[in-house]
Amino acid sequence: MPAEQLYPWCELQWQRLLQQRASDRLPHALLLSGPAGVGKEGFAETLASLLLCHQPNNDAPCGHCHSCELHAAGHHPDLVRASPEAEGKPIKVDQVRELIEHLHSTAQQGGYRVVIMSPAESLNISSANALLKILEEPGRNTLLLLVCHQPGQLMPTIRSRCQRIDFATPSAEQSELWLQQKLKLEQDRAAQLLRLCHGAPLKAQALYEGDLLEQRKKLMSGLADLLRGRMAASELAQQLLKADLLQCLDWINSLLSDIVRIQLADLQEPAVNADMKRMLQAIAKRASSAQVFALADRIQEERVSLLLRQNPNRQLLLERLLLQWAELSR
Ligand SMILES: [Zn+2]
Repeated sequence: MPAEQLYPWCELQWQRLLQQRASDRLPHALLLSGPAGVGKEGFAETLASLLLCHQPNNDAPCGHCHSCELHAAGHHPDLVRASPEAEGKPIKVDQVRELIEHLHSTAQQGGYRVVIMSPAESLNISSANALLKILEEPGRNTLLLLVCHQPGQLMPTIRSRCQRIDFATPSAEQSELWLQQKLKLEQDRAAQLLRLCHGAPLKAQALYEGDLLEQRKKLMSGLADLLRGRMAASELAQQLLKADLLQCLDWINSLLSDIVRIQLADLQEPAVNADMKRMLQAIAKRASSAQVFALADRIQEERVSLLLRQNPNRQLLLERLLLQWAELSR
């Protein structure tokens, strides 16, 4: 179950909702919108917890009533979550039908019923249409929380039926400070992690705590080996088969951005991938900007097709990109 946590940079959004709740103007559907890794899920879980709590104190869930215990244990009967069954897959129409059925049965604890759907852009056309019905007639004391990283991909008819709450990437200072305290890190290290994650603090935390840093290390040393001719593209592609593909594309993309900035803005230091400075400076000297842009375009195309959930041959996709990468230093 996702952590129930309200992050310091979400305070304004939280206070606004509390005001609405105090004046009994809480809507039936909220669209929590903003980049991934800035705390929207934690916000949704905290709000669900508050609405379901039997004895909230000072606008916070008490943490020890029966309802809070059920929530903490991850199986509150009045809280339904819907997410894709696997990453990159859609939220299916059956999942939406199930939750509608659940909402139509009465609230078992006698209070609110809450749905958390994440990420809402994973709804396909038929599941979105099924959801529309419940958005139109949600029933009393029902709150749908749609967590959405890319609201542009959501059907306009869904968007227009939700009150939207925007979450932005917090300031670098705020994120750095939070990350330093959270992970007991030096400021430099926190800043470096944040740069790798476009400033999203929870992504930076996950990068630090999970095996993603290990994946990145493997990719970076593989890319360097490719340039030196010490490894074949097919071999590296094979090694990366189990890695998070979109993440790998993002990382290569961020290397390309660094190279272009070195070439065109005449920067000496890579803005993001400081640890790969020598490799990036070498490529910036040898490759033309046109070559770098061509590879970036290619990656963008592959990203789009992955996001559209076409099922590519991963080995082939990676191999082609890596061959093009190796060309950069020829
Ligand atoms: Zn409680």
